Amino acid sequence: MSKAAQPPRSEAEPSGVVSARDGAAQPPRSDGEPSGVVSARDGAAQPPRSDGEPSGVVSARDGAAQPPRSDGEPSGGRKARPLVDLALARCGVPHGFGVRGSVAPDRCGRPRQVHGAAVVSAEACRAPGPPPEGDAVVATAPGDVVGVVTADCVPILLAVGGGRAVAAIHAGWRGLVRGVVEAGVAELVRASAVAVTRVTAAIGPHIGPCCYEVDAPVLEALRARLGAEAMAHARPVRAGHAMLDLGALARLALRRAGVGEAAIGSDAALCTACDRERFHSYRRDGPGAGRLVHFVAIPERLDTASGEP
Ligand SMILES: [Zn+2]
Repeated sequence: MSKAAQPPRSEAEPSGVVSARDGAAQPPRSDGEPSGVVSARDGAAQPPRSDGEPSGVVSARDGAAQPPRSDGEPSGGRKARPLVDLALARCGVPHGFGVRGSVAPDRCGRPRQVHGAAVVSAEACRAPGPPPEGDAVVATAPGDVVGVVTADCVPILLAVGGGRAVAAIHAGWRGLVRGVVEAGVAELVRASAVAVTRVTAAIGPHIGPCCYEVDAPVLEALRARLGAEAMAHARPVRAGHAMLDLGALARLALRRAGVGEAAIGSDAALCTACDRERFHSYRRDGPGAGRLVHFVAIPERLDTASGEP
């Protein structure tokens, strides 16, 4: 099914106590995360469900049918269409958040992910031999495509200056603690020589606060890195355990790195564990879980990019 999603070693992120409560009601979001509702015209994420039941709009045949994208690709192909985010689409940046069966372009450069904070270049990923270890990858040349894979962790795709440079980040709780988001943004800004105020970011599908229970050591590590504010995104459920909103923490880390709140999209920030029709989920499916592949590209011709962010 996911031919292109080759899980790197140690992709799994065991985190102590975790539950995958498929039928659990989604708690109200108080962190300003968007609802995920976008126009069908752009082919982006489906509206979130409030009951954890499989969405009725998903095709049973391929598990991930999406409306046609706005990039001129013909519809009706057999491959599942990745999700798009309006914040990046408005900048003219080609990208996709993976669903079951979707693939990235062949030339997509991906690092070997290790839940660290190292940032690598697209060039390093293209070089002969095994890909470099890293959890963020930055590209600066027209036509470059970079990506990461996930199966519950948070994928973040970024672009600056209408797509002059792009980056992909893989952020689980370990990556957040190690500063991978801040490191990725810093390298994107450095490599492109563009102000951080011109960075646009999009948060993709990851395990939601409805399904992600963590224990005290995880919470303590996050508090130590991101401060007390981070604990606003952890809802205690029993002694020493909380339901964690990883996406909100990724957003917090992006803001700390200088990215504007309004420049962070989350049209595709759906819960991987809740939606088995569309997403792989490590917590739900275990070590045999597939991986979602996410990618972002620099247009071949930058003048085709619209709307400088
Ligand atoms: Zn969920």
